[in-house]
Amino acid sequence: MRRADLSRRQMLAFLGGLGLGSVLAACGGLGVLLWWWSRPPASTDVPPLPTAQLAQATPPPTATVPPPPPQPFVSREAWGALPVNHEAANENGFYSAENREGWRVYDDLYTAYQTLVVHHSVIEADSDLATVREVQALHQGERGWADVGYHFLIGKDGALYEGRTLAARGVHVAGYNTGSVGVCLLGNLSNSEPTPAQWQMLVQVCLWLKGLLGLTHLAAHRDFNPMTACPGDTLWAAMDTLAQGVGLERGTGGYLGDA
Ligand SMILES: [Zn+2]
Repeated sequence: MRRADLSRRQMLAFLGGLGLGSVLAACGGLGVLLWWWSRPPASTDVPPLPTAQLAQATPPPTATVPPPPPQPFVSREAWGALPVNHEAANENGFYSAENREGWRVYDDLYTAYQTLVVHHSVIEADSDLATVREVQALHQGERGWADVGYHFLIGKDGALYEGRTLAARGVHVAGYNTGSVGVCLLGNLSNSEPTPAQWQMLVQVCLWLKGLLGLTHLAAHRDFNPMTACPGDTLWAAMDTLAQGVGLERGTGGYLGDA
């Protein structure tokens, strides 16, 4: 059909149809454009990672690993510690409101501990190993405690010996044990100085436990219990320097515990 043959009415209908078609076409075009912009990237744009690769890319859930103790470290097993005795005369059974002297296990070490308390052993055997065993025997025997009272002991050769588990309250500073971590230098420091290796390890232990337990304070045993000579005059004289060097407050001000 030629356009000239169309009647006016047919022409109007044709033009109207053409106009509607144009609008529809334009809308269609816009719609396609919007769809193009908003569509998610096609699977062919970025190849999917294999599951194995995704697993490798995901960090492990335990991102914070506690820092290891300074070396050389001698575990209880390595020095031949005797097992904990929960029937000990003066640390009998487990802690409760009715048994406040019992073996107390902390819920959270970081909030439980505030102060590192320094001691000397006074007793000294033929070797560091023998002294550590003797200290445990004294504490479990004569003193009647469940285990060695200190959490750590430092040998004259600078080795760090594992004492009572950090998870449990120590027995080393009468009336102030809760929240106090006990570190004992082997030897009698009333009449001798710590060895350079012992001194070096003490500094490392302070820094390690400060980070591990969030400690705020460093004290000598004598700061809490003024009647004792512990930790000996030579270490006592160095306490301020030590506290300053490891960035802890000196003294009893951090104590929050109840026993
Ligand atoms: Zn002491």
